[in-house]
Amino acid sequence: MSMDCIVCGKQAFYTWTSIAGIDIQRCRSCGVGMTTPVPSAEELLEDNLERYIAAEREKVYLPRIRYFQARYHSYIKEIKKFKKTGALLDIGCNLGIFLLSAQKEGFTVTGVELNKSCAEYGRKRYGLKIHSDYLAEIDFPDETFDVITLYDVLEHVPDIKGMLSDIRRKLKNDGLLVIQSPNIDSVLAQLTKAKWSWLTPPDHLYHFNPSGLASLLISSGFRIEKSRTWEPAEDFCNNVAAAYLPGNIVGRVIQKLLRISRICFVAVLFLQRIWWKRQQGGLIQIYAMKDSWRD
Ligand SMILES: [Zn+2]
Repeated sequence: MSMDCIVCGKQAFYTWTSIAGIDIQRCRSCGVGMTTPVPSAEELLEDNLERYIAAEREKVYLPRIRYFQARYHSYIKEIKKFKKTGALLDIGCNLGIFLLSAQKEGFTVTGVELNKSCAEYGRKRYGLKIHSDYLAEIDFPDETFDVITLYDVLEHVPDIKGMLSDIRRKLKNDGLLVIQSPNIDSVLAQLTKAKWSWLTPPDHLYHFNPSGLASLLISSGFRIEKSRTWEPAEDFCNNVAAAYLPGNIVGRVIQKLLRISRICFVAVLFLQRIWWKRQQGGLIQIYAMKDSWRD
């Protein structure tokens, strides 16, 4: 079966890893990974509905709400280096906790969340404006938003190029696009491969590296302002422990001891600055502006 690389269009791939009959094929030219076989849009939506149901999401976010608020505050601080205020659209906004933070910091916020239970939660609990349709189907006028954000979303989208073109249309001239997506070139991905917790096939269809994601955005009519990589040290430690320690009681005890002693955590906290500089953090965060002269 021949397929074209979503980024560079070439057709030469190799199998990077396989999990339960699903292959992660990487482009020999640009290194971007693609999940094969590609699930249908219906399968994806069904998977999304099961995986991201509001009651389950609540258990992830609410017990650690202060942690997430601090994290989102740092996201907004970065955004403010480019746009101090304005209309912000968060695509894949989940329960709306990021939107709430952005609103508190002066943005006029709107969300898009395909999972109806999560969208409903954000509307009811936080009074947020959240749409539950595909971006192309929502009647936002062109050039509505100053900022559009997609945190951990683009890797789920089957028609990435179509979506980037819709996003570009909805952004004002010189509007800011922020994307965060797992980094297949990261130290974490290389250490854990099939056990990398941000691989999650078939949920994640694409597995970017910083240069591949930048090329995709440039060819979609954006100019790159900033690209960085990072990851929470805790997520790194948990993922490596889960990948290397046995799944039995011994493994769990060792993991607990490591967590209590914080040896792994402190070491990672120190070392990750080195690999972040080399663009090898587990998450890519890219800031791009709509390149309006290309219209
Ligand atoms: Zn490629």
